Amino acid sequence: MTSQRFALVLHGGAGVLAERSYQKEVDHMRALAERSRDMLGDGMAALDVVEAIVYELEISGLYVAGKGSSPNTDNRYELDAAIMDGETRNAGAVAAMEGFVSPIHAARKVMETTPHVMLAGWGANKLAEKAGLERVEDPDSYYTPAAVPDNRPYATGTVGCVALDRDGRLAAATSTGGTLKKTPGRVGDCPLIGAGTWADQEVALSCTGQGEFFIRSLAAGTAAARVRYLHESPEEACRWALKDVKRLGGDGGIIAVGRDGRVAFPYNSQGMKCAVLHADGRITSGVQEQS
Ligand code: ASP
Repeated sequence: MTSQRFALVLHGGAGVLAERSYQKEVDHMRALAERSRDMLGDGMAALDVVEAIVYELEISGLYVAGKGSSPNTDNRYELDAAIMDGETRNAGAVAAMEGFVSPIHAARKVMETTPHVMLAGWGANKLAEKAGLERVEDPDSYYTPAAVPDNRPYATGTVGCVALDRDGRLAAATSTGGTLKKTPGRVGDCPLIGAGTWADQEVALSCTGQGEFFIRSLAAGTAAARVRYLHESPEEACRWALKDVKRLGGDGGIIAVGRDGRVAFPYNSQGMKCAVLHADGRITSGVQEQS
């Protein structure tokens, strides 16, 4: 591999509806991957890059995260997000948070301004308010939930990003509106460190799919442990974790980047919207497997 020594993968959710075109999302993700090449090329830290990319995904309204989130059964928008710095293993997360444009910015505030890893509900809202984060004044006019067929059991539009920067640091970030028609207070895998999001000095990962199964299989943490202790490649480790998710009855996808710049983006759902900045400088994007 002719290495530029940085790489990044971003996703817009696992599972696609066969009858729908995702060209708009793919073009958007590709443009972000191109932007990330400049950011990482300029020496920006992986942690800042994953936060910036996930923020762009959140405000686009194209995914089931941030602006594109769907309401729960009480018609309220409760959002989850997590960010993790592989170098220090510092992490921050918010769960069932309401009323703010960027859950990923709030997760970073949890990481940097509190001694905690996760704040939930009104505590997360309070922190975001104190930090002066941008508010959603009128949820009904701000959010643009996608029309999803009634028989669809869960939404698959979580967003995430993993990056390796020029200095060899890894980071991961994930943000979601959660599953479709979820119960008030339901929290998925995305903000749970080790379930939907993880980064250490070996690998960074972000998951998407039916969160309950990713929690029960501790998907991201297990894949990371396989890289660390079994010396598997990110690809092998993620495929193993997805098999475990499948064994429990779920499906989805995982994006990962290792400290050597090797990327992985396997899924066992119908597809996964994603874009990849490979360590050799190539950018690929799509809703199905790309090499
Ligand atoms: N994993 C997310 C959740 O369960 C959903 C998704 O990936 O779209 O909240």
